[in-house]
Amino acid sequence: MTSKVALLGLDYDELVNICEQVGVSSVHAKKIMGEVFRYGGFDLENIPDFPKKLLRWLQNNTDMTLPEVIANQHAADGTQKLLIRMADNKDVESVLIPADGRLTQCISSQVGCAIGCEFCLTATAGLTRNLTTAEMMQQVMTTKQVLGCFPRNIVMMGMGEPLHNYEHVAKFVRMVTHDLGLALSPRRVTISTAGLVPAIYRLLEDNLPCSLAVSLNATTNEIRNQIMPINQKYPLEDLITAMRKYVSIRNKKRILIEYVLLAGINDTMDDAKRLRDIAKDLGSTVNILPFNPFEGSRFTRPSDEVVDMFRNFLNDAGVVAVVRVSKGRDISAACGQLKTEVNQRAATLHKQRSLTL
Ligand code: SF4
Repeated sequence: MTSKVALLGLDYDELVNICEQVGVSSVHAKKIMGEVFRYGGFDLENIPDFPKKLLRWLQNNTDMTLPEVIANQHAADGTQKLLIRMADNKDVESVLIPADGRLTQCISSQVGCAIGCEFCLTATAGLTRNLTTAEMMQQVMTTKQVLGCFPRNIVMMGMGEPLHNYEHVAKFVRMVTHDLGLALSPRRVTISTAGLVPAIYRLLEDNLPCSLAVSLNATTNEIRNQIMPINQKYPLEDLITAMRKYVSIRNKKRILIEYVLLAGINDTMDDAKRLRDIAKDLGSTVNILPFNPFEGSRFTRPSDEVVDMFRNFLNDAGVVAVVRVSKGRDISAACGQLKTEVNQRAATLHKQRSLTL
């Protein structure tokens, strides 16, 4: 691993500081941002009138490499799931979802996750480490390499709890929404949280330019405690108070509620009624996500009839609720599944090799 600082993790102000340190005009900071975020490249030597001493400084002190894509699964609906190997050999998933002429990228914020949601495959391995801003940006740059374009929507819904890695995620959000960065509208950058209440208040205080989604998944503390251990620390009433505050401060901006539907756990008519009340109170729309089964999980996916009943009830009650069938269901659809499969294949291969030696 290199000890150089990753160029992709440097924001505009830091690039301006470097220009000043090297003794060249700060206009070159803009040129670097243009080269990286408009063209998706690192060909700094081809930038017109780019000072040699700044080029040398960057070549000597910054790392411009991109991580390796070690697996790329293509689904029939156009979704691609990438497994990206970071410089320390840690793998993370990133999903590219084309829809309505726009590309959405689901970004991972951590290697693994500490939150421990019972229905999540990523949770089973625990947290290895946070990803840096540069490593999140590298996921975006990998998309440019694979598809030749940048995403127009970013959702922080991949591996990890984004608000558990607040500093790096906040910098990433500022960089992708910066005029000289990807210039995405804050509406098009969504952070999804399992309910880290203090971090929701911090996000508000910092006025982070993004939208918020909350992975709610239950409407009583009793059920939420069972499937999301974080609820024992930040119970529903505290979470909903924080969500109300968000909506009132952010000018009635809506919070998206995500609801993983688990057969026999949170899919009754009483659950639907309580969810209706919460969604109406907050003016939220609801994404219903029928559970994606994975090996070893104790949960099952509800029948299509139950899923329809749940959605129709909410819609009839005036709540916008959409069933999000996992894009790419013919590939490893559950978050963390591709990583698990690739690692299992590698372990089998390693075992076979050891046996033949
Ligand atoms: S659902 Fe999200 S927050 Fe919960 S364990 Fe999985 S990655 Fe972590």
